[in-house]
Amino acid sequence: METKQFKAESKKLLEMMINSIYTHKEIFLRELISNASDAIDKLYFKSLTDDGVGMNKDDFEILINADKDSRTVTITDNGIGMTKEELENNLGTIAKSGSLDFKSNNNLGEDVDIIGQFGVGFYSAFMVADKVTVKSKAYGSDTAYEWQSEGVEGYTIDECDKAKPGTEITLHIKENTEDESYDEYLEQYRLQSIIKKYSDYIRFPVKMDVEHQRKKEGTEDEYEKFIERETINSMIPIWKKNKSELKDEDYNSFYKEKFYDYTDPIKYAHVKTEGTATYNALLYIPSKAPYDYYTREYEKGLQLYANGVLIMDKCADLLPDYFSFVKGLVDSEDLSLNISREMLQHDRQLKLIAKSIEKTIKNELSKMLKNEREKYEEFYKAFGLQLKAGVYSSYGMNKDTLVDLLMFNSSNEDKLTTLDEYVSRMREDQKYIYYASGESIQRIKNLPQTEMVLDKGYEILYLTENVDEFAIKMLMNYKEKQFMSVSSGDLDIDTPEEKEEIKAKAEENKEMFAFMKETLADKVKEVRLSQRLKTHPVCLTSDGDLSVEMEKVLNSMPTDNKVKAEKVLEINPDHSIFAKLQELYANDKDKLKKYTQLLYTQSLLIEGISIENPVEFSNMVCDLMTE
Ligand code: ADP
Repeated sequence: METKQFKAESKKLLEMMINSIYTHKEIFLRELISNASDAIDKLYFKSLTDDGVGMNKDDFEILINADKDSRTVTITDNGIGMTKEELENNLGTIAKSGSLDFKSNNNLGEDVDIIGQFGVGFYSAFMVADKVTVKSKAYGSDTAYEWQSEGVEGYTIDECDKAKPGTEITLHIKENTEDESYDEYLEQYRLQSIIKKYSDYIRFPVKMDVEHQRKKEGTEDEYEKFIERETINSMIPIWKKNKSELKDEDYNSFYKEKFYDYTDPIKYAHVKTEGTATYNALLYIPSKAPYDYYTREYEKGLQLYANGVLIMDKCADLLPDYFSFVKGLVDSEDLSLNISREMLQHDRQLKLIAKSIEKTIKNELSKMLKNEREKYEEFYKAFGLQLKAGVYSSYGMNKDTLVDLLMFNSSNEDKLTTLDEYVSRMREDQKYIYYASGESIQRIKNLPQTEMVLDKGYEILYLTENVDEFAIKMLMNYKEKQFMSVSSGDLDIDTPEEKEEIKAKAEENKEMFAFMKETLADKVKEVRLSQRLKTHPVCLTSDGDLSVEMEKVLNSMPTDNKVKAEKVLEINPDHSIFAKLQELYANDKDKLKKYTQLLYTQSLLIEGISIENPVEFSNMVCDLMTE
């Protein structure tokens, strides 16, 4: 018997499989079943045009059996089979379509990953077997052949007996090693669960001879074993079924089983499209954010099937980051099973599918917002942060997609509002969309800066998340209305008379404010009269793009580049403190210095900024109290 050598590349792949430390070795079965299914497809196709085949669709099957005594697992199909030349070419060399490009990919770590994502076909058998026998008889041929290999040493091909066309692959399962158990692949229930997991949707039956027990006839408590041939796979994937056949419950239980959630999804969509992108998809929005959702550990992605065969568990390219919460799967006939991850990223078809999926998700969310407000708010509480981050990231590239999905709390009512709703409530004379930021709604409500705006009857958006103000800044405006922080710049809410009055007063006290500014040195850019305070004495605002709140957020991040907002200390001219300051400016400048420090510190406290020297502050207040 002549032993033939594998082609160099095949040998490499084989070596990799034999020594694989890959943890999901179970996928060998997926690969072999998928090959069997392809082989059946070919013969089935022939049978449609050639009566000579003499087979109906129902006759085709893939049979899996395990035998513990001989330590073998056998995969039998009655598909097209292989000739001697085909055995030689197909199993002696990596298929031309091969999933691995060794030139760019000869580092083991990466390869191991590819095993998981795409599989590597027939050779994956060597992850669990130390000897593989393939008996095959090609349709239309009289002779059957047996291919056999124990690994890199090579393979043999000989004639053998086999009555019917098809292929029978026997895996001699490896012995257990110190750190690896292979026995599990001889267990019936284990094989069943692997079949269900990866090959449930193969369109031909995958059968096993399953052992059962039954009461022996005529006895009370005696049992006997019997064997029944059962179909393990459901054959029709739920996403290929008609929507009319399916109930909410079917979709929900599928979701929970498949994506390991205890709760029903808040929304699902069953998509069937044909055209530029042909695919079926099931998309789910979980009702709660997974515990690791807002961490680096979370992996986005949809399951990807090529014509019913799972080729990738989390295809990240199918989901934009801002919709990373979506779970589900995509099944397309346009994708090849043996596509590598690198190729997939550039796959035109995949890009079209991704675009179409993004559109679908957007539409579903918009519909939910319009028709199921309560549900949408629940969704938004879980994932709104991600949408806002999406507006901000990529330099605002996606803001138009997302802006109408955003919601904020506002002074209007204690509930979430969309920007569209805000604008529809805007008063005729209102120029800006006002917003205020702070740690909590309650804290914002207490902010002195909101006083005058509210008093004049304008609505304020309450921004409580770190990302909020950054997102708003990225949006710049909505429906031609500019966003305006109540804590920065000119709010433009005063009447012309009020403006005149303020201007005059500011001019009169110019020197005092300059003195106060000097006292605070570069802590503030300016001290000035406030137009936004009504009853409160003092507040901190900012000029320029960076707000006090944003400074706080950015500086809390672990970088060395600290930023600085152009802070402005504002004093209420109608508060009695103002007269006091004037008096001190005239008579006791040292005391004015102290008061200025105190007012500044107070304004920091109001903003929730921790002060540099609380002890000094406390002592100064005590001095005042005991004066
Ligand atoms: P791939 O399936 O990606 O082409 P494989 O290494 O899994 O790569 O298989 C190589 C080739 O061997 C297949 O393309 C097919 O032509 C042939 N083959 C594998 N298994 C079978 C089978 N059960 N019946 C018929 N042909 C098979």
